Amino acid sequence: MRIILLGPPGAGKGTQAENIIQALNIPHVSTGNMLREAIEEGSPLGIEAKKVMDKGALVSDDIIVGLVVERLKKPDCSNGVLFDGFPRTIPQAQALDDANIGIDLIIEIQLDDENIIERMSGRRVHISSGRNYHVKFNPPKREGFDDLTGEELIQRDDDKREVVEERLVVYRNQTEPLISFYKAKQTNNDLDYLTVDGSGSVESISQFILNFFRNK
Ligand code: AMP
Repeated sequence: MRIILLGPPGAGKGTQAENIIQALNIPHVSTGNMLREAIEEGSPLGIEAKKVMDKGALVSDDIIVGLVVERLKKPDCSNGVLFDGFPRTIPQAQALDDANIGIDLIIEIQLDDENIIERMSGRRVHISSGRNYHVKFNPPKREGFDDLTGEELIQRDDDKREVVEERLVVYRNQTEPLISFYKAKQTNNDLDYLTVDGSGSVESISQFILNFFRNK
């Protein structure tokens, strides 16, 4: 089963991804996490990507598609995959189609701009695992530290307010068109499309999504 988590930055895609991958036993393919790992490693890709990410812009489609294609070759992707933050543009979605990488389900998490800004400003991340927390809505057991490793959490540079606003503009212009792109495929019965209200609690959204799988 290949699934795409779609929705604006800060809607809770990364948090919900953790529950879905456990329930379905498929890997979490987050292009944002892959880029942050490259930044941590200080690789040439990471150095270039950071400049773009810190402005709230998108990394080029060629680079992203290359990263994803390599990732999909790994054996853990053979039973399916949960994409998070990918595709983010029509050309990226088209690249999946061109490579005959079919998608079974879109989970679109909806959230308005005011909530997005509140979510992103309180978000904290554990870089090496990609685990997300929120100071108010999903706090770690010990403030500032990851629950599993005890390592420090950070605030992403691109979660700062000026950058968040730019990321929202980029989302509306470049990523939102994917909603119609995939709804057209739903109309053709090529995939399932689940719409989720992202304003509820982490737990209620998670139950809603997991119920969908139970009833399938
Ligand atoms: P995310 O963690 O998904 O919010 O991604 C953080 C940043 O990484 C984005 O604002 C982009 O700069 C970059 N990025 C992540 N995924 C993609 C993608 N699929 N296409 C282009 N840029 C991406």
